[in-house]
Amino acid sequence: MGAEPLYLAPRLGKRMRSLVESPGLLHTLSDALGSPLHVLVPDQLAANVAQFRAVFSRHRLSGQVFFAHKANRSGALLRRLAATDAGVDVASLAELQHALGAGLTPDRIVATGPKNPEFLWLAARTSVTVGVDSRGELETLAALVRRHTLPRARVLLRLSGFEASGVRVLSRRSRFGTPAGESEALLKAAERHGDVIDVTGVAYHLDTTSLTEKATALEGCLRVLEECRGRGLRPSAVDIGGGFGLDYLADGAQWERYTSELTAAVLGSRPPLTWGGHGYGLRNEAGTLRGTLGLYPAHRPVSGPRYLDELLAHPAASYGGRPLAGLLLEHLYDLHVEPGRALLDQCGLTLAKVLEVREQGNGGALLVRLAAKADDIALEQHGVLVDPVLVPRDPALPGPGPVAAHLFGSLCLETDLITRRTVFLPHRPEPGDVLAFANTAGYCMDFHATRAQRQPGARKVAAWQDGGAWRWCLDDLYWPTASMDTGGHDMGGAQ
Ligand SMILES: *Cc1c(COP(=O)(O)O)cnc(C)c1O
Repeated sequence: MGAEPLYLAPRLGKRMRSLVESPGLLHTLSDALGSPLHVLVPDQLAANVAQFRAVFSRHRLSGQVFFAHKANRSGALLRRLAATDAGVDVASLAELQHALGAGLTPDRIVATGPKNPEFLWLAARTSVTVGVDSRGELETLAALVRRHTLPRARVLLRLSGFEASGVRVLSRRSRFGTPAGESEALLKAAERHGDVIDVTGVAYHLDTTSLTEKATALEGCLRVLEECRGRGLRPSAVDIGGGFGLDYLADGAQWERYTSELTAAVLGSRPPLTWGGHGYGLRNEAGTLRGTLGLYPAHRPVSGPRYLDELLAHPAASYGGRPLAGLLLEHLYDLHVEPGRALLDQCGLTLAKVLEVREQGNGGALLVRLAAKADDIALEQHGVLVDPVLVPRDPALPGPGPVAAHLFGSLCLETDLITRRTVFLPHRPEPGDVLAFANTAGYCMDFHATRAQRQPGARKVAAWQDGGAWRWCLDDLYWPTASMDTGGHDMGGAQ
């Protein structure tokens, strides 16, 4: 390949870097447990919780960090979480059962999302706080509590459709939550069911990267909280959901360069950078660039705890421009956050073994087939473009490089591409080498995984550092006693 490589190097924290620099361990693991293999680092989750906590302290706010369980099904992560002071946001009956069994007590659990009667019953039975989506759900819950003589149910009222100036709807449409403009009927219902329902707060979760959209939603919640107090309800918490984001890339300049070269490729002024000339949402209409880039902003320096910090410092337009944190503090409201992806930053990687390396007759990119399906490493489904780390079987014999490659999955399906992007690797991979995809713990391990072609699901292991050495066990067998007895209790050194 004559073309200059366009790398998108992954951002690697201390623990993750140490893991990818342990080729012996990674090869032993994938030889023993198969490919693909997910490796989780539960201690990193504890370190990330501490980073979110530090933002609360900086703004002198009380409240709780709830990990959004749906981002990863791992038992090791949940049990490690139970050993911190954080809580969990569960979105199904099985997730609730999992959380209770992992040692999270009901006061540390919030139940959100679409709910069936069994999920609602178990939440109410155990006094888990329920994020109610609509007035209908509130009525259903109240009826359930009465019929089964359950304890008073603790609820958060989930809102959506916030308006900035009373005219322009700023937040995007959501199928979840009651439109803020229709909160009156919801509050009346809550009052009517006051004997069985306890409104502990209001909530939103917006799937957006926009700070102003989220600030508008938070201001909307503050107004509804005032309305609640006017009616004699005594809610004390604002739950601002998740969506704090993650910075996948080590180098912002590589991202800038890649996206401008992709644009050039779509316009035909350079060779294609993708399989079949795919444009990731961009297209060439008679020499004019159309469409929008449908990719995750993989270089996102203001993400995770920093994003929360900026949101809290954001001026509240409808409250004379005062910072949002000041308004929360003044009313002594508790702040609840529900990060999924952001809390899993640097918490896991996925290993995939190289099965075959084929040259194309025309001197084009190498065709590299991996022992993994695209849905086992779902970075592409989330629009995240980031390079894997090549872990050679024999580090003493690096192949020639750099090389361009297309990464294919193991399904008998044209579209089973690990990524549609042409990936540049520092050396030519060989069969038996392993590619390590960093930062797959958030949504990219099991959210999309299938059992297509009867291929087995990827196994998961939990790994932790004991002095200078890595130790590991199957995800199912991990309990916090393992890593916390061996120095994994170090909550600092988050990166
Ligand atoms: C998915 C979800 C989250 C987590 O979102 P992230 O983008 O992973 O932070 C939090 N709260 C609710 C209600 C959700 O549905």
